[in-house]
Amino acid sequence: AALVARRASARARWRRVVALLREFEDGCATPTPRLRQVVDAMVVEMHAGLASDGGSKLKMLLTFVDALPAGNEQGTYYSIDLGGTNFRVLRVEVGAGSVVTSRKVEVTIPEELTKGTIEELFNFVAMTLKEFVETEDGKDEQRALGFTFSFPVRQTSVSSGSLIRWTKGFFIEDAVGKDVAQCLNEALARSGLNVRVTALVNDTVGTLALGHYYDEDTVAAVIIGAGTNACYIERTDAIIKCQGLLTNSGGMVVNMEWGNFWSSHLPRTPYDISLDDETQNRNEQGFEKMISGIYLGEIARLVLHRMALESDVFGDAAYNLSTPFTLSTPLLAAIRKDDSPDLSEVRRILQEHLKIPDTPLKTRRLVAKVCDIVTQRAARLAAAGIVGILKKLGRDGSGVASSGRTRGQLRRTVVAIEGGLYEGYPVFREYLDEALVEILGEEVAQTVALRVTEDGSGAGAALLAAVHSSNRQQGSI
Ligand code: BGC
Ligand code: MG
Repeated sequence: AALVARRASARARWRRVVALLREFEDGCATPTPRLRQVVDAMVVEMHAGLASDGGSKLKMLLTFVDALPAGNEQGTYYSIDLGGTNFRVLRVEVGAGSVVTSRKVEVTIPEELTKGTIEELFNFVAMTLKEFVETEDGKDEQRALGFTFSFPVRQTSVSSGSLIRWTKGFFIEDAVGKDVAQCLNEALARSGLNVRVTALVNDTVGTLALGHYYDEDTVAAVIIGAGTNACYIERTDAIIKCQGLLTNSGGMVVNMEWGNFWSSHLPRTPYDISLDDETQNRNEQGFEKMISGIYLGEIARLVLHRMALESDVFGDAAYNLSTPFTLSTPLLAAIRKDDSPDLSEVRRILQEHLKIPDTPLKTRRLVAKVCDIVTQRAARLAAAGIVGILKKLGRDGSGVASSGRTRGQLRRTVVAIEGGLYEGYPVFREYLDEALVEILGEEVAQTVALRVTEDGSGAGAALLAAVHSSNRQQGSI
């Protein structure tokens, strides 16, 4: 009788887990009509953010990049790429229609430097660049420097701008409001290096510059890595908050800072609220917290932890699921990728990384399903964001009837894309591509190409340094 009772209660606990799973799945659902609502909300917020400062959670920041590389730039440039998982220094050779990274170092930023002072962080950056330059016998000291700084910045020119706020777990209070190019220039001077920032750019903007260099149909760039964001080429007369803004090209790249996008149409669950509570930037970067690499693994962990608390699926190991950020997004991806019949990779990850001893197959399936739900929502929301940009640009096919154009005459559109989730996680990419087709329809989707750039954020910044280091402004937009 005791055995029967135990089995009955085990069944009840499993039913509870299944109920939690269903609830989570429903909460994350992104059927096509819902994605369309997100698209439209994105367009509305883009207009609002262009109309006035503070008009929207979408900041729609001016970049002062009104000329993209034309193809005739030449020379050797340095670039510094700060703001993702790794910090990079590049030497970039530009010329003869190509951009080649001839040397590169990549270092992980010591965690404490992301929470200290700006002087400490930039001293580290400057010293890394100094070592890099010195291995070239100091010959290259006079080179122009592109500085990719992947945080929201209010630019005052193409080579200066103040930090609005930190994202992605960086939190260096004394830097907020400061001109980050100037801070870096000071650190470079302190290090004794005779190099100064020529172009200060967001990673999306660098990616767009490189994408556009190789393909002139490139009108936007998207990053889906540690954080997420997009930029695109806007007509200056549509940037209403900046009346009288004149550029030779009639256009300017706008950094949307879409990570901070918010809409009531976004499928938010209680786990998203718990995640937000754990972060230093509460109530900010709501879209980013559903999409990007820093957060996806953590959302899954929160779900699994709740399941562990309300059942015995993870046995005594439940406690091991209680520490924030122990399930990283690369692990989430590895779990979702495992297509072996017995999910042996899932077993290994649970054992080695989460200290959850051998689990039955049905529990491993449960874990994989949670990771799948998180991934799918993220990828589909990113797709909706991309279509939002296309729609704002009149390139989503919806204006076809009124423009008198036939679908066959739709212009080809290229979106440059970079970041670990899109590049390194095929399932994510498939979900994203699938959602694009769903929202746009097969025919229009065929006119849109997502093109992965390599090192675009850094190499593109070097290209922009090239454009702006001389007075040649022959670039076009
Ligand atoms: C930042 C953006 C950046 C994006 C991708 C976000 O957290 O706010 O400026 O482009 O991450 O790196
Ligand atoms: Mg990057």
